[in-house]
Formats: sequence, C-alpha cells, structure tokens
Amino acid sequence: MSELLEQIQKRKTFGIIAHPDAGKTTLTEKLLLFGGAIQEAGAVKSNKVKKGATSDFMEIERQRGISVATSVLAFEYRGHKINILDTPGHKDFAEDTYRTLTAVDSVIVVVDVAKGVEEQTEKLVQVCRMRNIPMIVFINKLDREGKDAFDLLDEVEQKLGLTVVPLSLPIGMGGDFQGIYNLWEKNIEFFLEEKKQRVGESVKITDVTDPKVDELVGEKAAATLREELELIESVYPEFNRDDYMAGNQQPVFFGSALNNFGVRELLDAFIDIAPNPQPKESSIRLVRPEEPQFTGFVFKIHANMDPKHRDRLAFVKIVSGTFKRNENYLLVREGKKMKFAAPSAFFADKKEIVDQSFPGDIVGLHDTGNFRIGDTLTAGEKLQFKGIPSFSPEHFRYINNDDPLKAKQLAKGVDQLMDEGVAQLFTLEMNGRKIIGTVGALQYEVIQYRLEHEYGAKCSYEPLSIHKACWVEADEKSEEFKEFARLKQRFLARDKYNQLVFLADSSFTIHMTEEKFPSIKLHFISEFK
Ligand code: GDP
Repeated sequence: MSELLEQIQKRKTFGIIAHPDAGKTTLTEKLLLFGGAIQEAGAVKSNKVKKGATSDFMEIERQRGISVATSVLAFEYRGHKINILDTPGHKDFAEDTYRTLTAVDSVIVVVDVAKGVEEQTEKLVQVCRMRNIPMIVFINKLDREGKDAFDLLDEVEQKLGLTVVPLSLPIGMGGDFQGIYNLWEKNIEFFLEEKKQRVGESVKITDVTDPKVDELVGEKAAATLREELELIESVYPEFNRDDYMAGNQQPVFFGSALNNFGVRELLDAFIDIAPNPQPKESSIRLVRPEEPQFTGFVFKIHANMDPKHRDRLAFVKIVSGTFKRNENYLLVREGKKMKFAAPSAFFADKKEIVDQSFPGDIVGLHDTGNFRIGDTLTAGEKLQFKGIPSFSPEHFRYINNDDPLKAKQLAKGVDQLMDEGVAQLFTLEMNGRKIIGTVGALQYEVIQYRLEHEYGAKCSYEPLSIHKACWVEADEKSEEFKEFARLKQRFLARDKYNQLVFLADSSFTIHMTEEKFPSIKLHFISEFK
C-alpha cells in the first residue's frame, strides 16, 4: 500500500456539536486522555463566552486566544490519527461552526440527558443533515436524573429529524444509575458513583437471558433491561454502516463524560464505523483523497493575537494528496503561486511546523491577507471546491466611518475582517452604503474593537430594521425581474462576491414577494447554484 493510502486510512476528522453546557469540552478532554494526548483533566480550555461578558473586550480577546488554541486537537488512538475540529456552541459564533462543518467527515452530537435537544443543537444538526454528514449521538450526564431513555430517543428523532439506532442502553438513571448495556460490544459496564470511575473490566454478556445479568444488576433492573432490549429490537432498525455513512441512520450512545463513563465505548465504536477522509465535489469534478496531487480549502481564518503583526493564520483542510512544506501551490481564485515555509500542524496542546500533511489533516498557513474563507489551493489544477456557504445574518447595521482621515484603513480593515468570516458585508445598490450583517450582536463589538486596534480606524453603527438577507436567483433580463428591482430598489444590495441580495424587512415581505414574483427565487443561504 502506498504511504498516502495508509495515511488516509489512519485518519478520522470530526467535530463535536452541542448546545453550550451539554458537555462538549468535557467529552473532548476525555477523548484526548484516552489518546494519551494530555495527561490530566482541565487541560482543554472551554472556549465559552461567559454570559454578560459581551461588552468586555478583554473577554473577546481571551475568546480569540482560546479559539485559536482549540481550533484543532489531534491525537492518536488504536493506530488512528484523530483530528477534532472545534465547533463553538455559542450562537454568536454559529457561522464559524457552520463553516467548520464543511471540513469534518463526521460529527458527534452531544445531548444533555436532562435538558434534551436544545436550540443550538437543532440548528447545527440541520446543517449536518443538509450535507448528509454521518452523525453519532452521545447522550451525556447519565449520572444525573434525566429524561427517560426512550423519550429522549423519540425527542432526538423528532426534533433533529434523525433515524436513531441505540447502540447502548442505560441501566437505571441518576441515583439508580447502575451502568450501561453496550449493544455494540454486547457487554455491561458498571458504574460506581462514589469512586467516580469505571469499575474494573466490563462484564461480557453473550445473551441477556443469562441469569448472570440478574445477579449483576438485580432482578428488577434485569427484567427492565430485557424488556427494553426487546423494544429496541422491534422498534428501531438494525445498525447499518452504509446508512450511517449516507446520513440516513444515527447510532446513539449513553454515558457520562465527566465520569469518563461510556466514553471509551463511544470512541471504540467511532473508530470502527466513522469515515476516513472523504472525496469532495469541486467546480469541475469529484476530488478523491488518494489522488497524489495536493488539493485543499480554507475553512477558517484567524487573525493574529498581536495587533502589531497583522498576519493571520488560514486553516486549510487537505482534501487530496500530500501537502509539502516549501512547495509551490496555486491559490486558484487569484491564479497566484504561493509557498509556505512554516505550515503548522496542530496537536492536543501545541502547534508545530510540519514538512508534510495528509488528507483529513488541517494545516495552519501564515497569511498576510491573501486568503478568503472558501479559497481553494491546489498543486496547479484550476478547480474550486464547493460548499462554504454563508447563511443569512440575524442582525444588520449600517457601518459609518468616524474618522474621515482613516477611510482607507477602515475599508481595508472591513475587507479583511469579512475575509476572515467575522461578519458579512452588503453594499446597497442604490447609494453604496455599507451594511454589516452578523449572526450575533457580539460581533459588532469585536469588529469595532479590532478595526481600532489593528487598523487604526474608527467606526460606529446605525440601526437598520432588516429581517433576513435573501440571495436572489432570477433571470435579470426578464420583465418580472425589472419590475422587482424597481419596486425593491431600496432593499437591493451586493454581497462580497457581488451576488445580488434582497434585504427583506419581515417574513411577511418575503412571503408577499415570492407570491408576486414567482419566477424569482429567494434563498437564505448563499450557496444555491
Ligand atoms: P460545553 O459547553 O458543551 O463545552 O460543556 P462543558 O464540557 O463545559 O460542561 C458543562 C458543565 O457540565 C460542566 O460543569 C461539566 O462539569 C458538566 N458535565 C459535563 N459532563 C457531565 C456529566 O457527565 N455529568 C455531570 N453531572 N456533569 C457533567
């Protein structure tokens, strides 16, 4: 087998998605502990933005520092190289998470046993479903009193639109939590809360009718377990890897990340079933990881923490071939050849310069302002990867220049921050006024602060009542479009890629517009072609 193929088969790149507080950081840490990548708990920093800290610039800076540190965490386990990509759960950073989801080959969804499916999880899973990303669900905090396992499975199916296949089942819950029956490995693992740890080796069960089960968990719990397993057999489909890979079926595991319970089972099943780096569609053809020529795309750009050096770090997911240090690569959008003297790879607790990287890996490239989110890099082929969408922002404000002498700096700063994907810029067709759209209000403060500290420019905002940005798909020569453009001229703008956007002030307006102009399609996501 070629080295490239061997490296591809070793790799699994995934993201953990969860509503804040469901246990993503804790689970990440436990996974890293299994990989021996960190030695102790507490080593993984949570990148949460504290409540009420929105006006605290130090907090924003701290946030940025942590988020670069936790962007990619790599570790080895059972001969595999696993890359975990960070996906912030805070809704103000949702856009970042959406983009990161274009760079993962699968995800683990963490759900809190007591809170059930929460809002952010719903949104993120929806994005994964759109892309048919294989998902495993981990129901966390089993040591606490929570919802009934079957009610939760129903909730996951209904709210998240998934087809679940339980691969483990809790025996008791909260105070009565005794352990977990693992349908995947057919064994029971016991939980001893006082010790806050797994108890010795798990007990292998070949058949749940085995009287040993009664001895182990007591007659009552054993009877319940048997009933529940019967129910599972009759209600849920059998696990089928092809269905999981196609995004048609999602295995579910139960456990407690904090107590490191059920985590190894999750990780082992993940290693068994989760996909290796997958082929990716481009503007001209499907690109396969085993192709020898390097291709990759930028899914995240991070500004340097030190405002004196305005260089940035572009995160590139390698799609095919071997990426080599100091080799000439083509930035396809610009037709520009570039080489990188110090590409970084990421490990659990450090970043290092590497000579080569393989499909599934993320390399960090120093950038002085050349890259944009979504850019493709290749060994020379002029192809462009698809699939870095922009979603309609939720907030809109006019941006004004507050220092007439610094107009250039402001323009440059805004341009670069938009390249990083901090927010979206819309320019009104009518008068050229600039509007900034964001997913969360926090972004406005980040932009204002960074424009001042990194570019020496001052800006202020003006409120604007817009409900959604709708990307317009229409025949611009048709009479219907001309009529639409005439009526809506005050609300038409161009995005950064010069695509036409209709800024609708209410869902009612959207509805009326769609009725009145049936040939004009309005999209809430920029990627529709
Ligand atoms: P994140 O916001 O999703 O990254 O959540 P964290 O990993 O920071 O966890 C949020 C809180 O839940 C923390 O106080 C954790 O200690 C706690 N937590 C995580 N996993 C468990 C668990 O299995 N059981 C219990 N009881 N608490 C947990």
